[in-house]
Amino acid sequence: MNCLKRRTCLNLRVFSVFLAFFVLVCSVSAQPVIELIYFVPKDVDDLDQQVDLKKIVDYVAEGQKFFATEMDRLGFDPKTFEFNKDIVVVHGKKGYAAYKELNDLRAEIPNRSAWHKDNIQVIFLAGRYDWLGLPGVMEQKCFAKVNDPSDVRCKDYVIMPWGLGDKLNIETITAHEIGHALDLDHITGKSNYLMNRVREVVPGVEGKLRDLELSIESAEILNASNEVSSRPDLIMVNTKTDIDADVNDDGYIDLYDVLIVRSGMQNSVKYDTDLNNDGITDEVDLLIVKAKAMEAIVAASPRKRKVNITTWGAVKQK
Ligand SMILES: [Zn+2]
Repeated sequence: MNCLKRRTCLNLRVFSVFLAFFVLVCSVSAQPVIELIYFVPKDVDDLDQQVDLKKIVDYVAEGQKFFATEMDRLGFDPKTFEFNKDIVVVHGKKGYAAYKELNDLRAEIPNRSAWHKDNIQVIFLAGRYDWLGLPGVMEQKCFAKVNDPSDVRCKDYVIMPWGLGDKLNIETITAHEIGHALDLDHITGKSNYLMNRVREVVPGVEGKLRDLELSIESAEILNASNEVSSRPDLIMVNTKTDIDADVNDDGYIDLYDVLIVRSGMQNSVKYDTDLNNDGITDEVDLLIVKAKAMEAIVAASPRKRKVNITTWGAVKQK
């Protein structure tokens, strides 16, 4: 190989690495960056901050998982939003009564990526029980560049009064407001839709996130936008754990166990059908018992073909 050729190869390699990087950056930047902020006004005594920070991440992660599971259920792949788990803690310069509108908060929040298009900030406000009389608000602010007024970019702000703590299903309200930030409007109709308006204004009646659904209309809007991307890891069910799927304890994992779990999703049954021990019998438990039964059947078959069933998609194809 002569020198010229080698340099061409090297250039090509550098170029392809650059291209791969460029494609990666482009595909990542299409999605808005969701930043979490924990805002503590000066006069709010906040002893529990470390616990709160973990709770905040957990609640937002629940919402992330909700979107992935629902998008997948509706046939759009497990598409969901990405968020930065590294929460920015802002100690307010003023007492909580001084924060009356979004601009009061914005003035004190560091702008880590000000001109990133479609950036979303979710601000959890310590010590407050409402924001503008509501348990959660999404507000959009748009800016035009001074030297190019046609370059308009918008930023979405979700404000969550964290003082509500566990009194309301704060993960539900957070997911609802993030839904707005991802361009979803209110949906009228069934009250079990995440984007139903009622839930916002009637504290105490809002459903648990896991009981809610994304409507097909919402899913179609999300699917057509660049706001979400596929995250199969969020709905992965690990069937390799020591889950006892022999629900009726007859020594076999089979169709009977599947039927019992399916029944347990709607009725109370005398067997323990909550296989993953998350407090409810749901689709995930059904998936687990189906996968386990499938494994058992394959293991018992003469050919002993080895299969790995770990995702919704894989089970659906069967
Ligand atoms: Zn709303």
